[in-house]
Order: sequence, then structure tokens, then C-alpha cells
Amino acid sequence: MSSCARRPSQKTPISNFYLAGDYTKQKYLASMEGAVYSGKLAAEKIIDDYAANPAAFKSLSQPALAAASLAASVTAAAEIVDKSSSSL
Ligand SMILES: Cc1cc2nc3c(=O)[nH]c(=O)nc-3n(C[C@H](O)[C@H](O)[C@H](O)COP(=O)(O)OP(=O)(O)OC[C@H]3O[C@@H](n4cnc5c(N)ncnc54)[C@H](O)[C@@H]3O)c2cc1C
Repeated sequence: MSSCARRPSQKTPISNFYLAGDYTKQKYLASMEGAVYSGKLAAEKIIDDYAANPAAFKSLSQPALAAASLAASVTAAAEIVDKSSSSL
């Protein structure tokens, strides 16, 4: 079993709790690209969950909403990193 199989997904079993970091399950392990890419994956999972059930996010505090907005920005930045990594 590869180490990737044991790594945690960005989406956790805990509601509204997401993970980002190079140690999470993603394709650029142990690197800055991996750290950024994991942020993109986490942001995508937040956006997917929001689209599926916006009401679940209405009860979140102001900092959590700010984090969701930051997540959208990270997604945009990570797409730039992803494109430049794949062209190397
Ligand atoms: C010596 C060295 C050289 C490297 N060189 C390269 C390189 O050339 N290119 C490359 O792509 N990658 C390199 N890496 C790997 C790269 O640094 C990591 O992959 C990247 O920094 C991971 O980012 P991260 O945000 O996932 O975690 P981190 O950068 O480790 O950030 C985690 C943060 O969480 C904080 N933290 C931990 N526990 C807690 C807690 N309980 N409460 C609050 N805060 C906490 C830590 O202090 C840290 O600031 C190198 C790593 C090392 C060690």
C-alpha cells in the first residue's frame, strides 16, 4: 500500500472541518506545490458542500465565512500553480 492511500482527504468526517497541507492526499507529496494544491482541493470540497447544502453554512461564524471566501481565492491561485507545474 502506498503512503498516499493512508493520507487523509481534505474533506473529513467532521462537518465543516476540512484539511489542507502537504501531508493530505494529493499528487505533489511533501512539497510547496502539494501544500498549495491541497488548499485548492480543500477549497473545492468546501464549494461542493456549500453548493449541495448552503443552509449548513448559514450558521457559521463570520471568520468561517471569511475562510470560505479565502478558499475561493486559494482555488484561483492553485489553478495557476497547477498549470505551471504541469508545463514543467
Ligand atoms: C529543510 C526543508 C527544505 C524544503 N525544501 C523544499 C523545496 O525546495 N521545495 C518544495 O517544494 N518543498 C520543500 N520543502 C517542503 C515544504 O517546505 C513543505 O512541503 C511545505 O512547507 C508544507 O506546507 P504546509 O503548509 O503543508 O505545512 P507547514 O509549512 O509545515 O505549515 C504548518 C504550520 O502549522 C504550524 N503548526 C503545527 N502544529 C500546530 C498547532 N498545533 N497549532 C498551530 N499551528 C501549528 C507549524 O508551525 C507551521 O507553521 C522543504 C522542507 C524542509 C523541511
